[in-house]
Amino acid sequence: MRVGIGYDAHKLVEGRQLVLGGVNIPHEKGLLGHSDADVLLHALCDALLGAAGLGDIGRHFPDTDERYRGISSIKLLVEVRNKLNEKGLRCGNIDAVIVAQQPKLAPYMDQMRDTIATALQIDLSAVNIKATTTEGMGFEGRGEGISAQAVAMVE
Ligand code: MG
Repeated sequence: MRVGIGYDAHKLVEGRQLVLGGVNIPHEKGLLGHSDADVLLHALCDALLGAAGLGDIGRHFPDTDERYRGISSIKLLVEVRNKLNEKGLRCGNIDAVIVAQQPKLAPYMDQMRDTIATALQIDLSAVNIKATTTEGMGFEGRGEGISAQAVAMVE
């Protein structure tokens, strides 16, 4: 059994679709990035790669690579799953927290969990996602960005 941790943060800007956990979420701003900037899935990819001893997302999917421009991060997560499978590893469970002042994420949690469980080919009960605000403190609290942290166990 091995564990890994992941962290990511992206800037909130106008004119971008907000995508978290592979789910399109209605909001007046979205996250800026080379891919769809899905901060939750990026943290999750890093946690899985970390648990497998495979480095990080930047090493496997560099933001200088045009192939990854605007790509759905679900595709990156599936590629990470394949890299783990190649090493004979499989995700046991994941836990994650999204740090965002707005929007309210509770209505989208089940859809995010379902999307992630499908991508990782694991049971829904092995995918836990939480969300918190920072009570107005820091960049997340001021609505300048959203961050996410994830822990993954692989076996
Ligand atoms: Mg990122």
